[in-house]
Amino acid sequence: MTHRLEGQVAIVTGSTSGIGLGLAEALAAAGGTVVLNGLGDAAAIEATRAGLAAKHGVEVRYHGADMTRPAEIADMVASTAAAFGRLDILVNNAGVQHVAPVEDFPVEWWDRIIAINLTSAFHCTRAAVPLMKAAGRGRIVNIASAHALVASPFKSAYVAAKHGVLGLTRTVALEVAQDGITVNAICPGYVKTPLVEAQITDQAKARGISEDEVMRDVILAAQPTKKFVTVEQLSGLLLYLCSDLGASVNGTALSVDGGWTAA
Ligand code: NAD
Repeated sequence: MTHRLEGQVAIVTGSTSGIGLGLAEALAAAGGTVVLNGLGDAAAIEATRAGLAAKHGVEVRYHGADMTRPAEIADMVASTAAAFGRLDILVNNAGVQHVAPVEDFPVEWWDRIIAINLTSAFHCTRAAVPLMKAAGRGRIVNIASAHALVASPFKSAYVAAKHGVLGLTRTVALEVAQDGITVNAICPGYVKTPLVEAQITDQAKARGISEDEVMRDVILAAQPTKKFVTVEQLSGLLLYLCSDLGASVNGTALSVDGGWTAA
């Protein structure tokens, strides 16, 4: 089944790379207008933006809001509303990771992970909800993680942030349930993106084992399918949630983790 998004406007935070870029492309392919966001080389981002617009025949913009800066986040949502007069879909996806034992966990990394992985979703949501309420419809999809539901060692900030995202998801879902808005968390298992590739190196150092051993014994050990989740699999769920068929799915954690959290 194809879910079309012509006439709808979406913001995807952290969409210059990895999962966010894949989700943004899926929204564009479905006919939606997309606002990209994220860090990176300006020329590379512009090439991505222009490429998506040309490939899918939709309007694609970029806003460079740093997800650690509330005023820039507010400007991203306000300028989207000013440009298009609406915001139908918000995907809170931006995220970073740092892996270390809690007693060695750098305080700056704790603050950064909480700001980007959790607090930015609050700032985006609080700015988006009035627009969606006024329209009588909206979709907020938080890209959480299996780590919103279970823990792993050496990821104190990430696991705390992702559990927090699920709490935010559930709370806002209750607040907006009668306004035609749904708020859900997609909880992926491991997807092979730059974020995971960096973790392979960090985990090898933290555990004192080789990178091959991390892949086999740490990362895919958690995933019963022994396969990485793909961005396409996440995109299918996102498009379903954005459709009218997804209207009764609200305030929930949707695992796409090959069975990881069934254990
Ligand atoms: P990635 O590193 O490929 O992409 C992260 C994106 O966030 C990039 O576009 C980056 O520029 C952006 N970003 C980072 N700091 C930012 C900031 N301060 N302001 C604005 N944008 C910023 O990572 P990914 O694997 O695609 O992860 C995307 C999301 O999916 C994250 O929230 C992550 O926690 C979650 N997730 C990933 C996996 C996985 O296995 N890759 C699994 C579960 C959940």
